[in-house]
Amino acid sequence: DRIISANLMMEDHVVEYSLRPRYLSEYIGQSQAKENLKVYIEAAKQRSEALDHVLLYGPPGLGKTTLSNIIANELGVNIRTTSGPAIERPGDLAAILTNLQENDVLFIDEIHRLNRSVEEVLYPAMEDYALDIIIGKGPSARSVRLDLPPFTLIGATTRAGLLSAPLRDRFGVVSRLEYYNVDELTFIVTRAADILQVHIEEEAAIEIGLRSRGTPRIANRLLKRVRDFAQVRGDGMITTELAKSALELLQVDSLGLDLIDHKMLTAIIQSFKGGPVGLDTIAATIGEESQTIEDVYEPYLLQIGFLQRTPRGRAVTPAAYRHLGLPVPQ
Ligand code: ADP
Repeated sequence: DRIISANLMMEDHVVEYSLRPRYLSEYIGQSQAKENLKVYIEAAKQRSEALDHVLLYGPPGLGKTTLSNIIANELGVNIRTTSGPAIERPGDLAAILTNLQENDVLFIDEIHRLNRSVEEVLYPAMEDYALDIIIGKGPSARSVRLDLPPFTLIGATTRAGLLSAPLRDRFGVVSRLEYYNVDELTFIVTRAADILQVHIEEEAAIEIGLRSRGTPRIANRLLKRVRDFAQVRGDGMITTELAKSALELLQVDSLGLDLIDHKMLTAIIQSFKGGPVGLDTIAATIGEESQTIEDVYEPYLLQIGFLQRTPRGRAVTPAAYRHLGLPVPQ
């Protein structure tokens, strides 16, 4: 797997747990989302009510799961965590809902992947804290309504566009998480180094921040890899020089682009005169899935203005030519 992949990898779990901020005050960046949530949380607590349902969306690794745990923590309630694909049948969701305690948080990751029959159970649950159960079959079937404790649903998704309108409309709070800037990432790296008890020079932290694609999960992962180099090749301390050479060996360039990003940009430039070219054609050319390109590789390239989405496909921008050291076509 790619070191700069924003998706969760096996080895991330242990470290992510220890690096995960527990309170809003420790959660770096995302000031807009944070400021609003602070008010809503305080208000819900004062009224001893469940917080309104919250939808968090944005690319992987930006802190949706972390923020959900913080919300529950700040509210002083339990959090039950599951994901869209894990809830297969309506009965699975009903079981989860009936086990919640008053004002608890239910966190559903990848909520866009819930199937329709499960989603329908959510509507009355979100709106009226109720569960409609059908008893019997055929003409004698009847619906019985069961009360649920008030609760907060927090849904996380990388693709808000894939959510059905009735589901999206039932969230009172909708927050989009943004890519982090270099200062914020540098701070995250410094904080993580502190927790991992490794000494890091400020320049080195900036260097890692620069190459983290605006994503805390990648920042933490790069830090761990660089720490390994510091331990084996150096005296354990992460100096600027060591960080730079380690990142070079990891083949992550000065903007956090790796070999696949380079392959994709170069392919569009060399085979399709810089585009525009359709996503499926790009995918076939570099031997990757279109879905993966769209979810994982492309968002950051769009964000930094190296790629443009046009009605006729993707096109490489002059900034990308310059970064790759290629002459910009007229
Ligand atoms: P997502 O759910 O959006 O994929 P996570 O919440 O799992 O992302 O975040 C990945 C890791 O990044 C977390 O374990 C945490 O260590 C770190 N992280 C995310 N957001 C922040 C933040 N705002 N401040 C500090 N660390 C963060």
